[in-house]
Amino acid sequence: MTTQTHYRPTQAIINLEAIKENVSNLKKFLKPDIKIMAVVKANAYGHGDVKVAEAAIEAGATMLAVATPDEALHLRNFFPNIQILILGYSPVSFAEVAAKENISLTVYSSDWVKQVAIDVNLPLKLHIKIDTGMGRIGVTTIEELLDLYENIEKKNGLIVDGVFTHFATADEEDDSYFIKQVDKFNKLVESLPKRPRIVHAANTATMLMKDPTLHFNAVRFGISMYGLAPSQYVKTKLPFPIKQAFSLETELVAVKLLQKGESVGYGATYKVEDEVYVGTIPIGYADGLIRKLSGQEVLIDGKRVPIIGRICMDQCMIALPAAYNIGEKVTLIGIQNNEEITIDEWAEKVETINYEVPCIITARVPRIYLTK
Ligand SMILES: *Cc1c(COP(=O)(O)O)cnc(C)c1O
Repeated sequence: MTTQTHYRPTQAIINLEAIKENVSNLKKFLKPDIKIMAVVKANAYGHGDVKVAEAAIEAGATMLAVATPDEALHLRNFFPNIQILILGYSPVSFAEVAAKENISLTVYSSDWVKQVAIDVNLPLKLHIKIDTGMGRIGVTTIEELLDLYENIEKKNGLIVDGVFTHFATADEEDDSYFIKQVDKFNKLVESLPKRPRIVHAANTATMLMKDPTLHFNAVRFGISMYGLAPSQYVKTKLPFPIKQAFSLETELVAVKLLQKGESVGYGATYKVEDEVYVGTIPIGYADGLIRKLSGQEVLIDGKRVPIIGRICMDQCMIALPAAYNIGEKVTLIGIQNNEEITIDEWAEKVETINYEVPCIITARVPRIYLTK
């Protein structure tokens, strides 16, 4: 990998020690024979897939899970030996490459299996997906499951290595729907002629909140590996502390004193009431600082100050309590002195979930890695 020099001061700082701590705390919390699958899809929830995977493996993860074939191939370049599972759809045309690269695929259709041509000397590992209530990919009945299983078994070179499901409401207090999903999963898994090597169902919320029998023999550790709780409810019940890994920083690039009657930004929506120092920071909606974040506070000199006016594509403006110097550090997400702006605070401001926040920080923002 080449290390590129970045001249623009805007950067996401990824604390790999926090990721390692979150994984090793989970490892201590789990029974020793339960595998940790680090979920590093979507460029590790926007944190950077290779470095996060490396940290997670160092701290005890023994499998990687991604969403797409391209994500799996990218990681395979860096990790020749680790097990990689694609949780989402793979086209039939990818099967041969997957076998060659030892990438495990999710399967849920007998038609898909019938179309696959595989070299018996290069077996392809499959995980059967059971849809117990998400309404997306996965088989839904015992008949469908057994038909799929038989089709796989009939075909030389295909191996049923795993079976799994995904829960829709594991992060909520009311567990009535969750229990229905668990019952259905158990019923379908038990109907199989042979129990696959890896049975897995737990996302973060399930592994942290629910009965440990639901860890089966592997858990899929996503959001809390990055130090974020799956929901506000889970946040109040965490069995061990988690540490946010993602910060977003930049620097002041301009400061000016504006007078009453002057305004800031497109549409001149922010009108200066009294004279005010206005700082410009080089981050905008093309970096993922979406326009809805106008009004969101940032940290400078340990103090909270608001983003004012409309956010531009590449820059935005903040109201300053004093004439700070060019180059003064501005933290959009993270800690300064005793103040912290969390990803959860952004999520609330833009009325979404914390998962979405680091994902929408675009590739233009370099990820810089903090290690000890
Ligand atoms: C993304 C994903 C996960 C991880 O979920 P978290 O809530 O982030 O732990 C687990 N399983 C599947 C199938 C997923 O798509």
